[in-house]
Amino acid sequence: MCGIVGYIGKNNFVNHVLEGLKDLEYRGYDSSGLSYLQNNNISTFKAVGKINNLEEKLKNVEVNDFGICIGHTRWATHGKPTEINAHPHSTNYSSVVHNGIIENYLEIKDDLSSKGHNIISQTDTEVSVHLFEEECKIEQDLLKAFKNTIDKLDGAYAILLINVNSEDIFFAKKGS
Ligand code: GLU
Repeated sequence: MCGIVGYIGKNNFVNHVLEGLKDLEYRGYDSSGLSYLQNNNISTFKAVGKINNLEEKLKNVEVNDFGICIGHTRWATHGKPTEINAHPHSTNYSSVVHNGIIENYLEIKDDLSSKGHNIISQTDTEVSVHLFEEECKIEQDLLKAFKNTIDKLDGAYAILLINVNSEDIFFAKKGS
């Protein structure tokens, strides 16, 4: 198991998440990443290896005062420790970090692929953010769409999701 951190607020909000991830380093991990939301736009950075590698990629990033950020240290269960497999996983509108295992991901992946979703990683995680996009087509209330997504995920996990149209972090924890 890895670590996940979410933060909404001012004053170097990306740094708060980086510091949170560093506090969780003792749990072990193979890669790390974060997504932040600012002005209805999600930016994502990922790196294999130590959090310092992620920090290096972020060193020229300038963020405004207020923002929302989710971060992750990964200990791979599904797929190699590569940058593509590192979290967060995203669509055009949403981004997810996930801790644990989604047991029925292959079934969900088949269904999403038949609906035209392009799943690019080997992880069990990526289906969750695409499934959320599908649920948003049926349910406009983002919290309800998130709940509907979670209801379809089997396994033991903790998950955080951000969306370009919300200033919230949606989160769920199940058996983990
Ligand atoms: N199962 C997910 C993956 O392999 C999350 C692993 C973890 O808890 O770090 O990406």
